[in-house]
Amino acid sequence: MTAQILDGKKLAQTVKEELKTKIAALPSAPALAVIIVGTDPASEIYVRNKEKACQAVGIAPQTHKLPAETSKEELAALIKRLNNTPDINGILIQLPLPAHLNAAEILPLISPEKDVDGFHPVNVGKLLQKDTETFIPCTPKGIIKLIKSAKPDITGLNAVVIGRSQIVGLPVAHLLLNENCTVTVAHSKTKNLPELCRTADILVAAVGKPELVTKEYIKPDSLIIDVGINRTANGLKGDVNFADALETAAYVTPVPGGVGPMTIAMLLDNTVAAYLKQNRP
Ligand code: NAD
Repeated sequence: MTAQILDGKKLAQTVKEELKTKIAALPSAPALAVIIVGTDPASEIYVRNKEKACQAVGIAPQTHKLPAETSKEELAALIKRLNNTPDINGILIQLPLPAHLNAAEILPLISPEKDVDGFHPVNVGKLLQKDTETFIPCTPKGIIKLIKSAKPDITGLNAVVIGRSQIVGLPVAHLLLNENCTVTVAHSKTKNLPELCRTADILVAAVGKPELVTKEYIKPDSLIIDVGINRTANGLKGDVNFADALETAAYVTPVPGGVGPMTIAMLLDNTVAAYLKQNRP
């Protein structure tokens, strides 16, 4: 049996085309401010990709490049200014921040109404309350869209999420729960991980360990979402052994071309949602 590949690039393209049409009908272009502190090469690539994606759909990107030694006070002042600029609809801080800046202290400074990454405590709380007015973090939102493109109704399915980060694992687990899955969150201290994963109709791997998930983790006919981005001597690898997933599962996302493009598409979607909320009649 060969699994069907869940093409995130193609689905993201569809989302972007829909957004482009929606944006063209707006009286002005939504604007996204992206703050990058320091010169981490991977972060610089991510920011450039976000700028290009914004431009392609008609969102105005505004990048703020700050030196690595920027103080908490200087960063806070910029965030405050952007919070108070009506023309800026969304604000994103590229992570990771340099070691002297604590993301847990900085992210809550973004206005919840402009928090298009969905990391503000208010928006995290709203997600738990199933409040549809929240901004859902982009990677988890993209993952649910990918899953539902293959299986529109996932009610009652067993889902295992490997990873409990604030950015991916935890929010995706809550979203799956909101979709009526029975959800287990596994992590670095979980015992008998392969056995647990083999109970999963939907397996989401968000770990950061190249090809951790092999055949013995995969339930036949299941749906596998590979979130991992691991740069190895043998090139870019996911958290899932793709050949094993192809052989055993019913659906699998590739790396690259799966979750990554959906993450960017959902950032654009959240930015348009922010614009619409801020410009309600
Ligand atoms: P993280 O380091 O914050 O969290 C990793 C999680 O994996 C932790 O909860 C930890 O308990 C768990 N873990 C670690 N080792 C484990 C093991 N051996 N067995 C079981 N669980 C284990 O990482 P993150 O920010 O959630 O990112 C995870 C991966 O997803 C990374 O490779 C990252 O680059 C990638 N990522 C991709 C996208 C995208 O858009 N495609 C977005 C965000 C993150």
